[in-house]
Amino acid sequence: MRTLTLITLLLTSFFLSAQKITITADRLFDGINIRTNWGVVVEGNVIVEVNAIGKLSKGDSTIHFSGSTLMPGMIEGHSHVLLYPYNRAEWNDQVLKESRSLRAIRGAKMATKNLYAGFTTIRDLGSEGAGYADVAIKQSIELGIIEGPRMLVAGRAIVATGSYGPKGFHPDFEVPLGAEPADGANLQTVVRDQIGKGADFVKVYADYRWGPNNEARPTFSIEELKLIVETAASSGRDVVAHAATNEGMRRATLAGVKTIEHGSDVSDEVLQLMKERGVAICPTLAATHSIQQYFGGWDGRDETEPEAIKSKRAMFKRVLNSGVTIVAGGDVGVFEHGENVRELELMADYGMKEIDVLQSVTSVNAKAFGLNDLGQLRVGFLADIIVVKGNPEKDIGDLYNIELVMKDGRIIELE
Ligand SMILES: [Zn+2]
Repeated sequence: MRTLTLITLLLTSFFLSAQKITITADRLFDGINIRTNWGVVVEGNVIVEVNAIGKLSKGDSTIHFSGSTLMPGMIEGHSHVLLYPYNRAEWNDQVLKESRSLRAIRGAKMATKNLYAGFTTIRDLGSEGAGYADVAIKQSIELGIIEGPRMLVAGRAIVATGSYGPKGFHPDFEVPLGAEPADGANLQTVVRDQIGKGADFVKVYADYRWGPNNEARPTFSIEELKLIVETAASSGRDVVAHAATNEGMRRATLAGVKTIEHGSDVSDEVLQLMKERGVAICPTLAATHSIQQYFGGWDGRDETEPEAIKSKRAMFKRVLNSGVTIVAGGDVGVFEHGENVRELELMADYGMKEIDVLQSVTSVNAKAFGLNDLGQLRVGFLADIIVVKGNPEKDIGDLYNIELVMKDGRIIELE
């Protein structure tokens, strides 16, 4: 009886893996180029054909999407599933008042929202005080306990002692912090510890708002940053740096980080340095855009644009002109999970060509994050595929119109 069950199981899985699904649409964006009337054939969890509709072999089942665009699953470059918009609860309160368990349960739901929005992979940039809840959420997805995107997680992230929040308490009062403090030689231990606890990469705050007037100032020295990068690299992991100041970015670049997050005050000189060293930038336009509205009282119109938005626009222009690789990531969590496309709309609005935005959120992100079989519809690549109604090359907002999400060869039931 047991043998019979096993044989049945084996046969079923054999036939299941032999199932070929053909998906076609009016347009196909393969991660690089747009083609008309193309499609893919998926077998198991792998893309086995990408071709014009007439040339594709017949699958066991075929789905055609007319008026739609077939493309790789999008990759969110900067998320925080453990955060939600600060106008609903201030960052301090999320970190100080909510239990880790509560945050993890909410975070799991937020991860699912990212997947439903067409983001089949997310790079999550720190648990912000929730320990290794991000690692647990990632594991829950891998175990099939919850539905969610593939996750690359940072774990706790590293800050220089005294620089990070929450702040402003009686000095004898030890409050839980949004990241793990470490300095000097101890950085080596902390990097190794975070890796041991499940970090896929190490996130470091190269600067933070700890200046005399609460302005952003560099934190770690170049030597400290180099030690972090060197220690992580030895384990085959990258380091990414939060940096808003030019000096923070300069140090992070010289130390050898892979990407720089935010980058508000970057100079042309540092951009040049980043280009030479192959450091990518993640501008997180949507974070600034949201905060200016819900805290700054901005109504969102161009005519009333506050200074912070004007300078972000100008920064993005300089980045575009510099030729530095731009990874797409909005800092989602600061604004609602599931509205990730907002970042892509802003990238287009601030002057990036639509096709370049599409490349950024697929093939460019994949390459920058070391995901060698994702981000493109290519034979041999993993079957992370979405279909959106309309033509995002004409209107980036069409990326909100999700019709199909396939992750790892499996069609996700959308809610
Ligand atoms: Zn962030």
